[in-house]
Amino acid sequence: MDGDKHSHICVPIMISGNVGGVVQFICGKSINCDMDFQNRISRAKQYIREIQPVIETKRLTQTLKESAVRDALTGLYNRRFLEESYENIAAGSIRRGKSLGLLMCDLDYFKNINDVYGHDVGDVVLKETSNVIRKNVRASDFVIRFGGEEFLVILVDIREDEAVKVGEKIREKVEETKIKITGGIIQKTISVGVSEFPRDAQNFWQAIKYADVALYKAKEKGRNRVVRFTQDMWVEEKY
Ligand code: GH3
Ligand code: MG
Ligand code: MG
Repeated sequence: MDGDKHSHICVPIMISGNVGGVVQFICGKSINCDMDFQNRISRAKQYIREIQPVIETKRLTQTLKESAVRDALTGLYNRRFLEESYENIAAGSIRRGKSLGLLMCDLDYFKNINDVYGHDVGDVVLKETSNVIRKNVRASDFVIRFGGEEFLVILVDIREDEAVKVGEKIREKVEETKIKITGGIIQKTISVGVSEFPRDAQNFWQAIKYADVALYKAKEKGRNRVVRFTQDMWVEEKY
């Protein structure tokens, strides 16, 4: 504030016992000298008290909506999110004249972790892998837990061939990551299938299927690799 010319009063908005926000009032003169200002503040305080439950309800609804589209274990988006949002995501990229990169990522021999170390360690590996993927894409990209140990990354507005580079970065980082478990360290690898929407397919789900076909090829070729989908891989009756 500019020195002695202005004064301000802050009124907290209490939400579930915590400060959920602050309303700031500014007046041109010293607050103490202006009774009219004091009266108005007291009316405003009354109003803020009355709207507090409304704000709290809205926040809770928001939290509930958010948790419905998140996977509880990893905190990533779930399939429901994809089903609800894919039309907007696809339409947005077409409107901007850009492409989406689709990375279908699947941990290699993951079942083995559960078998050898138990399900809890398997869960730790899933969480760590989710973090690695999330850290290596932009905040505006979407990381979705597509299946048990399968993750779909939607890269927004990518340049040609950029998707493969991001896929390769994820593959390398997963391979490098040392996951601490009781009594040791685990290192896992991941296979990645890559396609682009709408370059490879005009239909979003078809493009996802193509990423999955490329993933299948990556597994077939020995795992721990990134494979870009090409049309010759698509033999419909095989899949
Ligand atoms: P591949 O290299 O061919 O992908 O082999 P894989 O063992 O990774 O694949 P497979 O599909 O045979 O096994 C996936 C395993 O993932 C089986 C399932 O029990 C496990 N899984 C799925 N969801 C979870 C989970 O939430 N937690 C844990 N711990 N395991 C899970
Ligand atoms: Mg797997
Ligand atoms: Mg799988």
